[in-house]
Parts: sequence; structure tokens; C-alpha cells
Amino acid sequence: PFDVLIVGGGPAGAAAAIYAARKGIRTGVVADRFGGQVLDTLAIENFVSMKETDGPRFAIALEEHVKHYEVEIMNTQRASKLVPGKMIEVQTESGAVLKTKSVILATGARWREINVPGEKEYRNHGVAYCPHCDGPLFKGKRVAVVGGGNSGVEAAIDLAGIVAHVTLIEFGDALRADAILVKKLKSLANVDIITSAQTTGIHGDGKKVNGLSYTDRNSGASRKLELEGVFVQIGLVPNTEFLKGTVELSRFGEIEVNARGETSVPGIFAAGDVTTVPFKQIVIAVGEGAKASLSAFDYLVRSSVE
Ligand code: FAD
Repeated sequence: PFDVLIVGGGPAGAAAAIYAARKGIRTGVVADRFGGQVLDTLAIENFVSMKETDGPRFAIALEEHVKHYEVEIMNTQRASKLVPGKMIEVQTESGAVLKTKSVILATGARWREINVPGEKEYRNHGVAYCPHCDGPLFKGKRVAVVGGGNSGVEAAIDLAGIVAHVTLIEFGDALRADAILVKKLKSLANVDIITSAQTTGIHGDGKKVNGLSYTDRNSGASRKLELEGVFVQIGLVPNTEFLKGTVELSRFGEIEVNARGETSVPGIFAAGDVTTVPFKQIVIAVGEGAKASLSAFDYLVRSSVE
């Protein structure tokens, strides 16, 4: 059996694996797609100590660093079930049953998509999901933010300081963000707010985005905006479907963790975008992964003297 089995091979899982392996304990990583979300990222300019890199290069660096240690990597394997106990079991879709003394869940999250024509085609070519990451790429340009909840309104405020113009598009008849954020947004000169608007398509010239169309849900009229970027902000979905009924989840489906990365079940830890820890960023996921790994090691030391 493993001492620590990490589920997920993104920045959080990779950091957890390195920290565990450096303790000389038997470490495994089971990952659907080693590298995680960074594989879908173009420029990364906010990973402290690295002025600039790109997603695929960052993913290779993660894997090389992990492989430098004795870590059993089981790539392209999806965990389908977690069975807590003194010896914890992780089952995979391919039918394997992995036994381990402790688990670190680092299965990340995925952005909720609007599912309109153009969204997939222009992803990373004008369609973006992370204002902290990609905002500066749109300096001086016109963008739309789709989604009027807290994340959409925060994104619009953030972007308004960088880009030329922001149009916030909300499906419902009012913004759903906290009043203080809405007030701030309304005070900004380069922001337009459109409510009761259903985004119907993202357009481009074959290379990059040049427009967005929507239906005015009151009049039924279709309208088009000319712009260079679209930020989709309709939620982040944690990859926790397979965990229902085991560890405690928040109402958003995120794994509840404390400051040590402990979940509600002893021996099961979690880190990164899949958890309740705020701000979903690589540098944060990496730190949380290291922390969960040190906590797991601590747990193993304590449970071995019992
Ligand atoms: P993830 O990277 O999501 O990794 C999760 C891992 O778990 C993957 O290996 C996945 O295959 C695996 N997995 C999921 N479910 C299962 C399962 N059931 N069984 C086995 N394995 C499973 N952050 C920045 O700091 N700077 C940026 O510039 C930046 N740009 C971004 C651009 C885009 C387009 C996106 C989508 C995100 C960006 N982010 C950026 C956010 C950053 O990528 C995430 O915060 C970070 O990757 C989170 O790391 P993680 O390890 O928690 O999760």
C-alpha cells in the first residue's frame, strides 16, 4: 500500500507529491491528466520567480520535478470512488483498487462554460476565464464579462482598470453580486451593464475574437457588440462528483478544509482549486499542496505510534 496517495496531477498534486517523496515515504499520484488546468493556459506571468512561461512548458516542468523523486505516477487514470477507513481505498474507472494510509485530494476545478458557438474555438484567442491571469493581455482593448454574480462583477471592476472598456452581461434582470461591488462597478466610467441578456454567440475572424451577440430577453431582439475579448464568469465547478457522501463539501461542491488541509475525514487531506480555499491560482495551489502533504506526513507519524 501507499503511505500517501495523491489524486490529481495539477500544481497542487505535484507539490504534494514532491513534499511527500522528500520524506522518503511511499508516494503515488493518480491523475486523469497530469499537468491539470495549466495545460489549457497560454501565458503564465504571475508564478512568483518566473517572469513568464506558458502552460504546456509549466506542466512539463511540474512532471520533471515530480519524476526526479521516487513517485509512482498513474497517469490517464480517473478516480471513481473513495472508501475511507484505517486503510483508505481509491478505486479507478479502469477497475484498479489502490490502498493507502492517507490521501490528498487535488482534483482541481473546471470553469463553467456558456456553451455558445465560438466559445471553444476562440478559447485562449479572446475567450478567457481568469481575469487575474489574462486581464493584462487585453490592455487598451474592449471586453465583455459574462456573468453578474460576485466573480463577474469583481472581474469587471478589475478589468476596468486595465482595458479600454468593459460590458458586463447578465442573464437575469438584476446583478446578483453584493451591493458594495455593484455600487463600485456603477461608479466606473468605462463600464456598461446589460441585464436580461442571453449570450448567443462569440464571433471572430478565424484567428481571434471580434464580437459577441446576445438576445435582449425583454424585447426578443438580437444585438451585437464589437469587442476583442470575452471573460466568462459563470462559476467554477470543483471536480468532486466522485466524493459525494465521503468528505464534507460546501454548498458549491468544494471540499471543506481547515488551515492544515485536513478534510472532515481523518487521513484524508485536500489542496488546491478543489477546496474551499479562496482564490484559485497556481501559486496558491502549490502552497496548499505542500501544506496538505506536510499534514499527511504528520498524520502518518502520529498514527504509527498509536
Ligand atoms: P488542476 O490544475 O485543476 O488539476 C487537477 C488535476 O486533477 C488534473 O491532473 C486532473 O486531470 C485531475 N483530476 C480531476 N479529477 C480527477 C479524478 N476523478 N481522478 C483523477 N484525477 C483527476 N493560475 C495562475 O496562477 N496564473 C495563470 O496565468 C492562470 N491562467 C489560467 C488560464 C486558464 C485558461 C485556466 C483554466 C486556469 C488558469 N489559472 C491560472 C488557474 C490555475 O490553472 C489553477 O488555479 C491551478 O491549475 C489549480 O491547480 P490544482 O492542482 O488545484 O488543480
